[in-house]
Amino acid sequence: MKKVIFLLVDSMMPTVFEDCMRHKTVPALQFLKDQGRYWPDCVTVFPTMTATVDSSLLTGVFPDVHRIPGLVWYDPEEKSIVNYVNGPQCIWKLGLSKCAKNVLYNLNEKHLSKKVSTLFEELASMGKTSASINAIVHRGMKKHHVRLPFLMNISTRFGLKDDMSGPDVLTLGAMVHTDLHRNIPERLRGMRQKYGINDSYAVSAAKSLIESQNQPDFMLVYLPDNDHEVHKKNPAHAEEPLIRVDRHIQNILNSFGSWDEAVKQCIFIVTSDHGQTRIGKEEGFNIDLDKLLESFRGLKLGEAVSSHDLVVCNNERMAYVYPLRQDKKPDIIHQLVSESRIDLIAWKEKQGVTVKEGGSGRTIYFEPNGPNKDIYGSTWTITGDWLTLDLYNHDGIVTYGDYPDVLSRLYGALYSQDIPMIVITARPRYEFKSRFYPLHLNGGSHGSLHKYDSIIPLIITGTEHPIKEPPRLVDLKQYILDLF
Ligand SMILES: [Zn+2]
Repeated sequence: MKKVIFLLVDSMMPTVFEDCMRHKTVPALQFLKDQGRYWPDCVTVFPTMTATVDSSLLTGVFPDVHRIPGLVWYDPEEKSIVNYVNGPQCIWKLGLSKCAKNVLYNLNEKHLSKKVSTLFEELASMGKTSASINAIVHRGMKKHHVRLPFLMNISTRFGLKDDMSGPDVLTLGAMVHTDLHRNIPERLRGMRQKYGINDSYAVSAAKSLIESQNQPDFMLVYLPDNDHEVHKKNPAHAEEPLIRVDRHIQNILNSFGSWDEAVKQCIFIVTSDHGQTRIGKEEGFNIDLDKLLESFRGLKLGEAVSSHDLVVCNNERMAYVYPLRQDKKPDIIHQLVSESRIDLIAWKEKQGVTVKEGGSGRTIYFEPNGPNKDIYGSTWTITGDWLTLDLYNHDGIVTYGDYPDVLSRLYGALYSQDIPMIVITARPRYEFKSRFYPLHLNGGSHGSLHKYDSIIPLIITGTEHPIKEPPRLVDLKQYILDLF
């Protein structure tokens, strides 16, 4: 059985990849595509944020089952906002300790549902070894010792007692102690290098496993640099960051002696977690939620809940609005629907979901099970105006337009928690603004249901094993288990 190397490139988009191929600037990715199969239309889950996507990738289910609602969400038990680190200002407001503990510990050990098993856990029970290189979701059978870098340690004061679970090999930059550090230059682990959560560190770790003959059966390598760069650019023309990613992939392929040898020995899977959308230049392209909802008492970041009306959790181009007082919910929805820069406003109703379009108020309702089968084989009952979600009926099958796989994805997000919540998404070119959250005017952003944020490329090389089509990120876990 061949070993599997899974390369997860943050914010890689099929359009940019195809431009690069036309310019012949990404030889490694081009090689993997030419030697294998390529799908330009794989669909990720929603919200299109790494924490939720990685959870679905590793558990093979939507957030209604794995229970990670987004990058930022409200925890009713703790009565506080959970943030898996979104920008320095947020961390400053919530405290590094809380953020570090959430992303390093709570995400995997507490928030991710125990009712689902991860790919790493299932591989271990099949007697297969695996590695997670810098991925934020990594729950596995083995306990790993957390050793925070000095500066982080004195400011967080959490740690040494909290071991972290993971597969056989776990790296999280400098934050988990691993024997691999011997082979990785110290300079790749500094504060300015995001404590080792960068592409150079990840590739050094992967290479070191391959070259020392310690490559596990399955290795997930997370490459985050592309995302940071695309946020600062026009995503449609973000070729340079992907060219840099390609150099790293060349580096991995080179460690097998030749590229042909690499694909002879291993199956390579390359995909992304989400895309990005171009955000307009001027301030009007930010939808200021603090202002839009100013007539309600909103919970401020870092504040304790008392007599508040609502909590806003901003996930860039999507946001969760949690009504804390149910009598205020209709007024909150009314206010959100009045804003035409908001694309969709959705909330739980009966067994399903009601969605309204911002501005027009056009409405649709859907619930699981019923006469309408979609292209992924899920069945639904749908009433109202199908164009609200750009749905079509092709010979009795529901097909998707601007919002790929929207029924499963929106249902998954709204049922990720058992409390009342409203999902809102921004129209293309727009992003939500709230105090202390990072903004991307004149750059790129993601989070929404729109195809710009939702379509990812998929390359599989070194196996002819058939994949369920059309491909979805949520189905990749089962595909990988089937390979073994
Ligand atoms: Zn991002």
